[in-house]
Amino acid sequence: MTRMKISVARSAGFCFGVKRALAIAFETAKSPAPVCMLGDIVHNEEVVRQITGAGIKKIKRLGNGRNKALLIRAHGASMDIFKKARSLGYRIVDATCPMVKEIHKTAKEMERKGYTVIILGDKKHDEVQGIIGQLKKKAFVVESAGDISQKIKKIKKCAVIAQSTQNLDKVLGIVDILSRHIRELRFFNTICRPTRLKQDEIKRMPLANDVMIVIGSKTSANTKRLYEISKSLNKRSYWVRSKADLRKAWFKRAETVGVTAGASTPDETTSDIVQYIASFSS
Ligand code: SF4
Repeated sequence: MTRMKISVARSAGFCFGVKRALAIAFETAKSPAPVCMLGDIVHNEEVVRQITGAGIKKIKRLGNGRNKALLIRAHGASMDIFKKARSLGYRIVDATCPMVKEIHKTAKEMERKGYTVIILGDKKHDEVQGIIGQLKKKAFVVESAGDISQKIKKIKKCAVIAQSTQNLDKVLGIVDILSRHIRELRFFNTICRPTRLKQDEIKRMPLANDVMIVIGSKTSANTKRLYEISKSLNKRSYWVRSKADLRKAWFKRAETVGVTAGASTPDETTSDIVQYIASFSS
């Protein structure tokens, strides 16, 4: 086999917000008081194992919080959760990503100025729920053009914001449709920088490499999205969870290999896989 050139995406793996939240989580876990978290920190079995191993307990709902810490994940949470947690006695450790905080600030400010807030994102996603939960009035959530109801079309002034991980092309398409119905529309491109870089790289790398390897858990929605885009641009795209999934035959006559990883994939998994691929051509 010829020596292959392996390029790893700059945006592979954890984004800045998740890295920061994990660092806060491990630091908080050092304290003697029990630490809990509503839901998983990221959709990755290995990371969840590490977090649980450090002593952080995943809970479904808030209970008695006396002498306990509650960790708020990178996606943020609604004001109600903060209020309820405080009233139950939890000490809150807020690991909300600063870029999500910025979205909260924009949404609140625009609501104060009399704009109806429209969020472009996944209705059930924690980040979207967290944004809705910052506002006094009802915000509208639009996942696709089909969600643009008559009620939305009748809005006079709206502020449109996007969930930080949305696809830019899709968002711009929806904004375009909305602007045909709503006279005063202010759009804030709140897709975060790490997501933009990820989207940009996944459009370029599959075209520039013979083979593309996308790494991530099968439960990770953003890994799935990366894989689907990659596959549509390069048939030789493969989705793996660990090096055990790799097949030497995939790299036959390949000179260049591109590697990327979902936002919840640890760097160790990626470097493990890169080393293994390199061993095929040595
Ligand atoms: S806003 Fe961007 S950087 Fe922050 S947690 Fe979300 S995806 Fe990561």
